[in-house]
Amino acid sequence: MYAEKKPDKIDLHEQRLSKWLNCSLSNEPLKPPCVIDRLGNMFNKETLVEALIGKKLPKEFGYIKGLKDMINIQLEVVPSEGLGNARFQCPVSGLEFNGKYKFFSLKNCGHVLSAKALKEVKSSACLVCYKEFEECDKIVINGDEEEVVVLRERMEEDRLKVKDKKRKVKHGIVDVKGGDKVAGKMKGNGKVENVKGVSNGGSKRFKAADMVPANATKDVYASLFTSSQKNKFKETYSCRSLPLGRN
Ligand SMILES: [Zn+2]
Repeated sequence: MYAEKKPDKIDLHEQRLSKWLNCSLSNEPLKPPCVIDRLGNMFNKETLVEALIGKKLPKEFGYIKGLKDMINIQLEVVPSEGLGNARFQCPVSGLEFNGKYKFFSLKNCGHVLSAKALKEVKSSACLVCYKEFEECDKIVINGDEEEVVVLRERMEEDRLKVKDKKRKVKHGIVDVKGGDKVAGKMKGNGKVENVKGVSNGGSKRFKAADMVPANATKDVYASLFTSSQKNKFKETYSCRSLPLGRN
């Protein structure tokens, strides 16, 4: 009789269900306050924060670096449950967290709603607290592989944006509105401009005589350079004067 069972299928189902009822880190029953990470895994907040502080987070959760990578979620407990472990449901549709339905958490308010409710009501505001949200504020909970890939890309994009902004603020090339002022910075720096002028063959030519050491006269120092004699001739940017003998 037991041989007829399909253990793989059962394991898979239990595994899936477990993700909806238990903390992804400790595997203990979810007990609010709970959080999700940017990839839609659920945790008991205390467990995750303790692991983070104690630097005991396993490698697979290495992308969780701080509180900013956690989103506090508001879970609705199924009311009829007595003692025992809490089960959760969509506050609008009443669909339960059983691995069969898709749920989203809204990033700004943390309410967790079933995809069905969000689809049916078609609102741009949370169905519980009416806080406005955009498509990119929806984080699918325990999503499939493809959905997690999308979330991971979004997380990395956001990180780059934050990094870029920090870099710009640090170098003073971001104004209050967050716009770029790269050109303004370059102009403000006279040296950068001068160097450019020389390399472009511009009017500001480098003159050896300008670099005279304190203990040398201008003439002595200039004589070290064969071309110094040409100073007597008119020289322009496009026409270089030739030494006397060749004129
Ligand atoms: Zn809400």
